[in-house]
Amino acid sequence: MFCVKRIRDLPRTIAFKLTIWYAVIFAISSSIAFIVFYVMVIGSVHGQTDTYLLDKAEEMRSLLASEGLKALEGEINREARALGTKRVFFRLIGRDERILASSDISGWRRIGIDGGMLKMALAGKPAFKTTSMIESRQQHRRARILYIPLSDGMILQMGLSLRNEGKLLESFREVFTTAMLIVITMAGLGGWFLAHRALRRVADVTSVAREISKGSLKSRVPLTGTGDEIDRLASTFNEMLDHIQKLVSEMREITDNIAHDMRSPITRIRGSAEVALMQERRAEEYQETLAEIISECDRLLSLINVTLDISEAESGLMKLNMKRVDLSDIARRIAEMFRPVAEEKGLNLQVKAESEVYAMADPNRLLQAAANLVDNALKYTPPEGDITLSVDMEGDHAVLGVSDTGVGIPPEEISRIFRRFYRGDRSRSGAGFGLGLSIAQAIVHAHGGEIHVDSSPGEGSTFKILLKAAIPNNTSSG
Ligand code: ADP
Repeated sequence: MFCVKRIRDLPRTIAFKLTIWYAVIFAISSSIAFIVFYVMVIGSVHGQTDTYLLDKAEEMRSLLASEGLKALEGEINREARALGTKRVFFRLIGRDERILASSDISGWRRIGIDGGMLKMALAGKPAFKTTSMIESRQQHRRARILYIPLSDGMILQMGLSLRNEGKLLESFREVFTTAMLIVITMAGLGGWFLAHRALRRVADVTSVAREISKGSLKSRVPLTGTGDEIDRLASTFNEMLDHIQKLVSEMREITDNIAHDMRSPITRIRGSAEVALMQERRAEEYQETLAEIISECDRLLSLINVTLDISEAESGLMKLNMKRVDLSDIARRIAEMFRPVAEEKGLNLQVKAESEVYAMADPNRLLQAAANLVDNALKYTPPEGDITLSVDMEGDHAVLGVSDTGVGIPPEEISRIFRRFYRGDRSRSGAGFGLGLSIAQAIVHAHGGEIHVDSSPGEGSTFKILLKAAIPNNTSSG
């Protein structure tokens, strides 16, 4: 069944089509080569025949001039017998188409005198022609005929049978037909072999794709290292698989983290409700429990909202209300927002924004991103530390920086802090979901900007938001 299907699908395969093309191109090019060769051989055979006839005519002409008609008559009979009367004939034609002398032409019964050629010869020019005479039902005899003037209006008509040349050309055709069949078969086999060899590697890609569709994301197409088209396709395919595998494992990690982070508030909500229901309580106690439940629900909602915001920003679907924004203004607004918390923690929060620096941004989203950086600075800086919001230009970038003199980030954690749900070892006990930097980065990327971080453990950290600077304008487009 499988075999029948394979045979039925064969004409649709690239290998089959390539093989046919290969064989057809081979057949056409060898036929053209044969035709050119064949025409050249025919030309050369005719050339040799014509030279022979002209040489003989020259001999006859000098004999007639030196020894007369009788001697010529004897010579043409002798010559015809020597070569075979069926192979050659001579006829001397006088005025009024009278036959003056002739060799034995019994084997040339159907040969006549062509008036047109005779006239041409009488005009002094040798006239050639190839004729075909029917000898029997199956047999045709081809011959080369020459009319050539001798003297006194006498014309020598000569005929030479082309039977031997015909046989030569016939065997030439037979040899070629056999050679053609061999060449086409070889071309077909060669084409099939080459196409199959090249496409076997495509089959490898197909079989890996099939394994993946069954759920195994670990399979990879083996590379030969030749760097050819198929190797490049395989390597691109493998890169794509690496990317998909990374995305799938990230998604798995995120789902696990969300599930993990949702479990604690839900357990707490359930616990509070259960305790409240165990016995009859006073109205204030019920109010307290409900307030606890609302606060846990808010935590859950904020977790869900932030996760959705990150996905929206990363997929490019976040709606941004872009305006010309003065980063100094953003820095000052954030400082005002966080000053009470900073004071409560005994931290010194200051803004260094001497000049106006503009960028195109959604002010609310930019505020959200920068607020997360300041929130972290407050969380990870011990009392009496300094937090500085700075605004500057770096090349053609407008930069909003947040520096602290806090705990800093160990170098091995730097590459991980922007991942969703990542929390540093020392931060796990504190508040937070590990989403603050992820959302900040997603927002800045959605603006076409970048976030850079520079940190030394024990000395502090500096986070910078870099956006393409906008030309200052007195009339803000907001
Ligand atoms: P969260 O603060 O909720 O843990 P974030 O995504 O905001 O999550 O930060 C990820 C991690 O990066 C933190 O857990 C912390 O280890 C580290 N981090 C971020 N900002 C700072 C900072 N200013 N100083 C020291 N560590 C920081």
